[in-house]
Amino acid sequence: MRVPFIDLAAQQAEIAQEVLPVWEMLLTTAGFIGGEQVDGFEREYADFIGVDYCVGVGNGTDAVELALRAAGVCPGDEVIIPVNTFIATAEAVSRIGAVPVFVDVDVDYLLIDPAAVEDAITARTRAIVPVHLYGQTAPMEELNSIAERYGLEIVEDAAQSQGASCRVGRAGSLGRVAATSFYPGKNLGAAGDAGAVLTNDPEVAKFVRNLGAHGSSIKYVHDRVGINSRLDAVQAPVLRAKLRRLDAWNAARRVAASRYTELLADVPEVRVPLVRPGNEDVWHLYVVQVEERDRVLAELGAAGIGAAIHYPTPLHLTAAYSGLGYRAGEFPVAESAAKRILSLPMFPHLTADLQAVVVAELITATARVTVGAR
Ligand SMILES: *Cc1c(COP(=O)(O)O)cnc(C)c1O
Repeated sequence: MRVPFIDLAAQQAEIAQEVLPVWEMLLTTAGFIGGEQVDGFEREYADFIGVDYCVGVGNGTDAVELALRAAGVCPGDEVIIPVNTFIATAEAVSRIGAVPVFVDVDVDYLLIDPAAVEDAITARTRAIVPVHLYGQTAPMEELNSIAERYGLEIVEDAAQSQGASCRVGRAGSLGRVAATSFYPGKNLGAAGDAGAVLTNDPEVAKFVRNLGAHGSSIKYVHDRVGINSRLDAVQAPVLRAKLRRLDAWNAARRVAASRYTELLADVPEVRVPLVRPGNEDVWHLYVVQVEERDRVLAELGAAGIGAAIHYPTPLHLTAAYSGLGYRAGEFPVAESAAKRILSLPMFPHLTADLQAVVVAELITATARVTVGAR
């Protein structure tokens, strides 16, 4: 039996009847840019996260860039980011002409390590980007207190944490401004690329909307050199239909995660993921750790199980960021985790039967490679 890493078709099947009439209307009226579908989604998503403003943009990478620029990040500024994240977090910093400063993650949750953040602060540091990785929030109490002490901005990367919360609130409402991505595979995914910036600050919202529309709030009046990054109208009905189901889908992910954790409880070869105290995890990814990961991954692939790695190369070791002068060994936690992490199939429509297959194959694979390694 094959188990896909993610099943997006099942999501589409649930929403198709709601989306198709709206798409037909948009096609007929040629209402492709802005309009009431986009306005409606922005209002609904702001309410869902618990912020005053949501500005839809073209994708999550643009969202991080626009959020950083709204927080005042300028060329030459340093921005502290975890070394274990999707490269988009760093690209957004680089595109401004600012410098990504990588820090290690903690060993339990693989989230940005506040102690490492504090060590990395210099006179040129402008902002910290906590990435709410794999579906749970970074340690915001500690990070907010560091930011306050040093006069830094917090710009959340909430691309993997739609609906996640911690003691102080929902991911996306925990700093001055937040960015999220609606890439199809995220917990809330569009039918293509899309993203959003979230904030309680009306000036930040206004700035992001202006910057993402060619630096313009009135047609052909250009206040600054902007970019073109807007949420396409055709994405809005998809996002609205999925948003109505997001709490239920996140709950289904939570059930699936507990089931994996239970099934793997007596399997010492597999380290299951932990949830930070006070966190409500939305399980964007279920990431275990195993020895001989590459061989386990290959065995799973051969058995028809869609597993993956998030992420195989810590950012400082990518060719893209080799120019920053970091060395192997500098971020021991992220580097050692990168050799062991393995993301199991995780999506709201994952069934108990499929999970049993995944776990059985994982146990077989780990047993086989440990024997082979001896
Ligand atoms: C997906 C993702 C992004 C960027 O999203 P795109 O919409 O693909 O540009 C940024 N940060 C993280 C952590 C992500 O997972």
